[in-house]
Amino acid sequence: MSEVVKVERHDAVAIVTVDSPPVNALSAAVRKGILEGVKSASADPQVQAIVIACAGRTFIAGADITEFGKPPQSPSLHEVIVLIENAPKPVIAAIHGTALGGGLELALGCHFRVATKDAKLGLPEVKLGLLPGGGGTQRLPRAVGPELAVKMIVTGEFLSAQDALKNGLIEEIVDGAPAVGGEAFARKVLAEKRPLRKLRDDDSKLAAAKADKSIFTNAAAAANKRNRGLEAPLAAAEAVSHALDMPFDEALKTERELFLKLMNGDQSKAQRYAFFAEREAAKVDVPEGTKPRKVEQVAIIGAGTMGGGIAMSFANAGIPVTLIETGEEQLKRGLGVMQKNYDATAARGGIPADAPAKRMGLIKGVVGLENVKDADLIIEAVFETMAIKKEVFGKLDQYAKPGAVLASNTSYLDINQIAAMTKRPQDVLGMHFFSPANVMKLCEIVRAEKTAPDALLTAVAIAKRIAKVPVVVGVCDGFVGNRMLAARGKQAEKFLFEGALPQQVDGVVTKFGIPMGPFAMGDLAGLDIGWRSRQDRGIKSEIADAICEAGRFGQKTGKGYYKYEAGSRSPLPDLEIEKLIQETLAKLGLKPRQIDDQEILERMIYPMINEGARILEEKIAARPSDIDVVWLYGYGWPIYRGGPMFYADQVGLKKVAERLSFYAKQTNDPSLEPAPLLKLSGG
Ligand code: NAD
Repeated sequence: MSEVVKVERHDAVAIVTVDSPPVNALSAAVRKGILEGVKSASADPQVQAIVIACAGRTFIAGADITEFGKPPQSPSLHEVIVLIENAPKPVIAAIHGTALGGGLELALGCHFRVATKDAKLGLPEVKLGLLPGGGGTQRLPRAVGPELAVKMIVTGEFLSAQDALKNGLIEEIVDGAPAVGGEAFARKVLAEKRPLRKLRDDDSKLAAAKADKSIFTNAAAAANKRNRGLEAPLAAAEAVSHALDMPFDEALKTERELFLKLMNGDQSKAQRYAFFAEREAAKVDVPEGTKPRKVEQVAIIGAGTMGGGIAMSFANAGIPVTLIETGEEQLKRGLGVMQKNYDATAARGGIPADAPAKRMGLIKGVVGLENVKDADLIIEAVFETMAIKKEVFGKLDQYAKPGAVLASNTSYLDINQIAAMTKRPQDVLGMHFFSPANVMKLCEIVRAEKTAPDALLTAVAIAKRIAKVPVVVGVCDGFVGNRMLAARGKQAEKFLFEGALPQQVDGVVTKFGIPMGPFAMGDLAGLDIGWRSRQDRGIKSEIADAICEAGRFGQKTGKGYYKYEAGSRSPLPDLEIEKLIQETLAKLGLKPRQIDDQEILERMIYPMINEGARILEEKIAARPSDIDVVWLYGYGWPIYRGGPMFYADQVGLKKVAERLSFYAKQTNDPSLEPAPLLKLSGG
């Protein structure tokens, strides 16, 4: 009867099996198949109970998101759930793998749920800027109570089968195949003559929160605590709250309205775009059939800020690493920082108490580059100086085994030059991690001129294995992310000479949704690094130089563009800086002007878009969406704005190009002239 849903009868029990690889998503065909299957089983006088189960690796893992934004196709999920809930015979969902989103909502419409022991259950719609629109916000609180329900729906976190059992989301954990377990449970229901449990009619778990409203409001506030500017988690909490103050059907209607509002809003569009962008970025342009090389042993050179964080990322994934330094002293310091870091995370409950010892046990600290000899992958994270990098790669060429992939974590330097120091440039590439490397998910994989396809694929595969998001980029100064950041930094610096203060510029950037503005970021990274590099290159930047000359190197000295109270990382505006800027402008004979926030926003963001367009023209990035993934995962670009290139499309390329031309003239800055690609695409 249906291509994707089959019905079999075992005596009195009908088994409705969904078989729609890869994840049994709720496509129109699956919805129709289930509807017809349940209808026919309900009508069959021989059938006394119905089990809904799935073939393949998982229960229904969510909506078919390719249907989003298209005209709705009948039957809707709501219709299917209503039919199941009103079936005259017990309907049991037998869950394995992941019951997510619409999959869990469908299961919540069933009268009973059982799951295999490794199953996971959740409503992660918020991650796409949505809320559960198939009754999940009303039935889940009735199953597990409104406090846990709002937490699950607002954060999108999953429950394990064990927690689902403990909290009443499932009736039993079953062994073996889900359909078999479901059938055994169905027979038990029949034997015990258990009444059909319709969650919609069962308000028992709502009673406490109905009597004391603060129970729910506190739980909703806690779940939304980390929310920075996202609409969906707030709307989701509102929808769940109606389980307490509206009749079921009215609350369901409100859920639908809130869902549609999110679905048609800009934030969800951006979040769904980001979801696909990340998947696209994983597609690497290499000849068909290319296989990654095997990586069992990893060596990291340099136990500083980055080397340490990278080593932790490997240890977190259970992969042993050899961490190499120049001396015992440096090694001890590096390992000490990592240990402290792990201990702090364990103390806050972020990892189990025995994790620090286990993970540190995977990191072997040694002195001497010859220790790379067994490594399949070597990641260099020494000082950012070309001469030192060249020396290190020259030596690696002597010690590394044939076929080992040699990666540099350089932020800006030319990987082609680094590769040329070896007799195996085909094995050399960049793996550019972001700070803090044990936390930030992005890894720019830099493909140099001679990088072999299988070496590239090896780096991409290992990045995924350690839970990073790899994006392949080409060689240029700063690659994708830092090159665009530099375009923004240049404007930020210019603003100070035109009369803006650091807090005004940073304020506009953070209001836009980026977690930190350029000046606060400078203070965090340390202003002395740029100062030294300017001195080396004979470049002046009067305000930044004066700040460093005053001994203000940023957070590490308690003062930079801002001041910091002891032990705090919160930037506080400082009158001394205001004075210092005024004096410098007076010395240079410059007159400050009033700068409005719109100009700041445009000159912070549009030059980045412009640089992104040049990056595309030069084929440093393969797709605009790759650039967006870099910004989403490397720099905290707000997911609800999709990424700089997505944002550019929303503003309109024509407008971006016009404003850039305008500022190029106004501030006499040819670097702001729009890139040809922007002008072309903008018409
Ligand atoms: P760092 O100064 O904290 O650490 C560098 C470490 O390398 C030091 O511990 C040093 O002793 C060690 N080292 C130097 N020469 C060595 C050698 N020959 N053999 C073994 N060890 C050696 O520097 P960092 O911030 O970790 O930066 C390392 C690299 O990562 C640089 O290329 C930098 O541009 C890049 N990077 C830094 C950041 C960041 O935010 N700090 C972000 C991305 C990339």
